[in-house]
Amino acid sequence: MSASLSTAHALLHSVFGFSGFRPGQEEIVQAVLDGENVLAVMPTGSGKSLCYQLPALVRPGLTLVVSPLIALMRDQVRALTAAGVAAVSLNSSNDPAENARVLQLLRRRELRLLYVAPERLARPDTVEMLGESDVRMMAIDEAHCVSQWGHDFRPEYLALGSLARQIGGRLQTMALTATADAPTRGDIVDKLFAGPPRTFVRSFDRPNLRLCFKPKERSSRQVVGFVRDRVGDSGIVYCASRRKVEELAETLRKEGVNALPYHAGLDKAVRDANQDAFQQQDGVVMTATVAFGMGIDKPDVRFVCHADLPANVEAYYQEIGRAGRDGLPADTLTLYGLGDMQLRRLQIEQSETPDERKRVDRQRLNALLALAEAPRCRRQTLLAYFGESSEECGNCDLCQEGVERFDATVEAQKAMSAIVRTGERFGMEHLVAILVGERTENVLKYNHDRLPTFAVGKDRRPPEWRSIFRQLSASGLIQQDFLEHGRWTVTEAGWQVLKGSQRIELRKETAAPKSTRREKRAAVTSDADATLLAALKGLRAKLAQAQRVPAYVVFSDRTLIELATHRPDTLRVMREIHGVGDAKLERYGSAFLEVIQGAAR
Ligand code: ADP
Ligand code: ZN
Repeated sequence: MSASLSTAHALLHSVFGFSGFRPGQEEIVQAVLDGENVLAVMPTGSGKSLCYQLPALVRPGLTLVVSPLIALMRDQVRALTAAGVAAVSLNSSNDPAENARVLQLLRRRELRLLYVAPERLARPDTVEMLGESDVRMMAIDEAHCVSQWGHDFRPEYLALGSLARQIGGRLQTMALTATADAPTRGDIVDKLFAGPPRTFVRSFDRPNLRLCFKPKERSSRQVVGFVRDRVGDSGIVYCASRRKVEELAETLRKEGVNALPYHAGLDKAVRDANQDAFQQQDGVVMTATVAFGMGIDKPDVRFVCHADLPANVEAYYQEIGRAGRDGLPADTLTLYGLGDMQLRRLQIEQSETPDERKRVDRQRLNALLALAEAPRCRRQTLLAYFGESSEECGNCDLCQEGVERFDATVEAQKAMSAIVRTGERFGMEHLVAILVGERTENVLKYNHDRLPTFAVGKDRRPPEWRSIFRQLSASGLIQQDFLEHGRWTVTEAGWQVLKGSQRIELRKETAAPKSTRREKRAAVTSDADATLLAALKGLRAKLAQAQRVPAYVVFSDRTLIELATHRPDTLRVMREIHGVGDAKLERYGSAFLEVIQGAAR
């Protein structure tokens, strides 16, 4: 191990209180310490920030962190300050006094990390000021904002490459993002780096998130049941409409849940107050539209529930990704109905985006539908979308509850023969009409009632056929072309089944889905003494309130659980607990020790 890497190890322990690196972090930190330019693609919650924070502390000089999210900068600076690190942020919400303080710290060269919004960095006075200080590295967070392909495009990001040159000649550059797709990655490299950076791509798997989809029955009852089983946990319930956000918040409150609404139609003051409550208090449930999202940096969100189907697979993964960033078990539940699917399709077709974009959106939506209809492990299906192969996960509803399957070779052949015999020119409703033997206007117009396939599937109802189509599509046997009014075609793999050289199993569509069983609660606190844990949380809340910081800035859930489980009896032993660094030990150690000792009596 190089000398600087062992310093990094020591600081990981003494400053952050972590016992080791998370997967991927060490290689990246090593590359940064070696002076390389680095692009790090890692999923949300995998610990990207540490990859620049740690080198910033190991080496002399200042690290500039560019981030578009002011709330996120503020939280990170707070967390770093609590850990005893000299970090500040420079953004439009600073007042002149704060700015003056930043300037002074810069001149004295006492700062290790300076967080700055891109538009602020672009100002000539900022560039000039930084020219005088000792900037060694620029870490660009949310680097996908530089790409016009994404939905988060920010023109200010385009200037970052040249700004880096203005500030520091050959400033070491690091870009970080959680957006995986290849075109975006290409854009980042082109626009932010002078030459190809050393690139690290981490698995997108988040094994601590339990994945679960259920067909919608009475969705608000399902949501209430799910949330009520988790009272006391922080969580998010996403809804497709503002009206539903408010209704659900109200319903949940009546059930004794501390639920607050969040959507773009609310007064900014209300929105901010609700976001602050969610961020700072324990056990708040936010019912929200997707307006609530970017910039949530709360590590202990224990569940995300989609009361309605998300827009597409990327949105789905980002939204559930807000749960369990601390690595502890977290639960997700996504409800989907046919109405949702049609709504999402319509939204794409009616949007004013260019065709190219619509095509991508359709693919992303289809991938989500395939996930909802997945015949086996959801994580496998999801990761396959990100180009990763994986084992069955054991932490999704399909792995845990299993699904009833049947040999669907004959059904698949019937469906595909309907596709082929009509010239691969028709959409699902027409094909289903042919299969069940319905003489619709179009069936008659094209004489499709004379096909040998007509009515061969009348033993099944249309919803069952639709499910078969969705599953065949999910298994890659058929595909839908949305540029041409959603016509279905049979793929190479499909022909294997059609010709009878391969068999296929599909999921049985239960006619009336069972009423929602109570989901098993994640065993976050199984070993911890519940009374002691509650007392520790009480102390944390008091300390957090006194300092006006979120509870997790004092200690994370994981830290409290470990404290309640291991019950350290001295400060020295406490120091070994996850999340307890030197600064926090000094500040909070004895207060927590007292509570633990009190419980032992
Ligand atoms: P990202 O930016 O990738 O979404 P963060 O940097 O916000 O993720 O980290 C997510 C959470 O993981 C934070 O609460 C952070 O403190 C924690 N974390 C990061 N690295 C480690 C580590 N090596 N050990 C334990 N916890 C870590
Ligand atoms: Zn699974």
